[in-house]
Amino acid sequence: MAFTNPIRLLLNYAPFAKRLGVVSIKYVGASRLPTKWGDFDMHGFAETGNDKVHVLLSLGDLSDGQAVLTRVHSECLTGDALFSLRCDCGEQLQAAMETIAGEGRGALLYLRQEGRGIGLLNKIKAYRLQDQGADTVEANEALGFGADLRDYSMCKPMLEQLGITTVRLMTNNPRKVAALEEQGFSVVERLSLETPHNPHNRDYIATKVGKLGHLIG
Ligand SMILES: [Zn+2]
Repeated sequence: MAFTNPIRLLLNYAPFAKRLGVVSIKYVGASRLPTKWGDFDMHGFAETGNDKVHVLLSLGDLSDGQAVLTRVHSECLTGDALFSLRCDCGEQLQAAMETIAGEGRGALLYLRQEGRGIGLLNKIKAYRLQDQGADTVEANEALGFGADLRDYSMCKPMLEQLGITTVRLMTNNPRKVAALEEQGFSVVERLSLETPHNPHNRDYIATKVGKLGHLIG
């Protein structure tokens, strides 16, 4: 988003809440977020009625109607911040930010739904079961959770806040494409995010392909 039009700036910073189904989101505001790949704008959103907050990183003018290179990324503290090799989340996050910066335009939605929605502490329990031989789906199910509890309904008010209607989505997960299309967005292209395999995440990635329908070449 360009911060050149004062009226647009005021509108974007005005507190507001949008309701979609059960998810009500309040736009909190934005700041600059310089990174090693480029200078993003970081937009904060808060769900009302709970303590969940989400951010959207934007680069360039996204409200001109052109398709926006977009990543919808669910939080993975271990992969994104603690350098875990058990999954490919951190690699995907970095690749997405680098690709957006390379194009000079795009959006990254960082959704606070750790561990495919089960939370950090349950994820530790699931990892313990995986240490004992379960795969990522079996472990979640053994703890009484579905294989994937992620919800994408907050994407609609977040994308609308930035004026985004059409996206080129960086994902290997067809569920994310379907979720955005169900919310009325046009997904004109899916770009796969290929990240390096290692001995620790090879089985995890194979399970995502085999049991969760991810499309990895
Ligand atoms: Zn992860």
